[in-house]
Amino acid sequence: MAAGARLVVLGKQGAGKGTQCLSLSHHYVVTHVSTGDMLREAVKQSTALGLKAKELMDHGELLGDDLIMEMVSTRLEESDIKDRGFILDGCPRTVEQAKMLADFLAPVDLDLVIDIEVPTSQVLRRLASRRVCVDCGANYSLTARPLINWTCDVCGGEVVQRVDDTEEAISRRLEIYELQTAPLIDWYQSRGQLAQVTGTGAPEAVTKRIVRAIEERRNRKGGRFS
Ligand code: ADP
Repeated sequence: MAAGARLVVLGKQGAGKGTQCLSLSHHYVVTHVSTGDMLREAVKQSTALGLKAKELMDHGELLGDDLIMEMVSTRLEESDIKDRGFILDGCPRTVEQAKMLADFLAPVDLDLVIDIEVPTSQVLRRLASRRVCVDCGANYSLTARPLINWTCDVCGGEVVQRVDDTEEAISRRLEIYELQTAPLIDWYQSRGQLAQVTGTGAPEAVTKRIVRAIEERRNRKGGRFS
């Protein structure tokens, strides 16, 4: 089996983080931890966290750093992750979250942070067409539909447009991305932890680029992460 890994994937909304994280989680046999999926599940289950999160999520606003990091650190302590590692998607989203994550992971830091780069004009087109499974979060689009109507190929769930994929919420999320998340790219770059990968083209081609970047980094570290 391939060696595990401890990765963060960054990128604008619609850059393909969810799709790429799923492929990478299969390739490296590590758990995909998506804060967006965890929060959507909490909303669906009407937990205390979900009730707090719903309004902010629908409007494309961020939840508080402490709340998010408590949710993430609890998940990262589970045994599947301790054994093989993780691919973190949707977190960190602020420099404060990145600092809290590094403190939590110390003394063993992240292996690599991958930034998937896609021009804004293209992510806007992708988001308008994006559809997701309400049950497992699998991604589809108007041009890559499920095989049968709008029923998920993976789990049979209903495939719909996300509530926060309205024009207003998308533009707010992209604005917050530029203000709060883009600075993370410089932050990780200055720590020597960043690899930037072009996110345009077929999803399989993007996965290959990411795997190449990870393997290059692993080889530079003498074949080992962590
Ligand atoms: P996207 O990347 O398309 O905005 P996600 O599925 O990653 O969507 O997240 C959906 C929403 O969940 C965000 O708009 C935000 O409200 C909340 N959220 C997810 N991750 C975080 C985080 N790390 N910090 C704060 N809020 C978050």
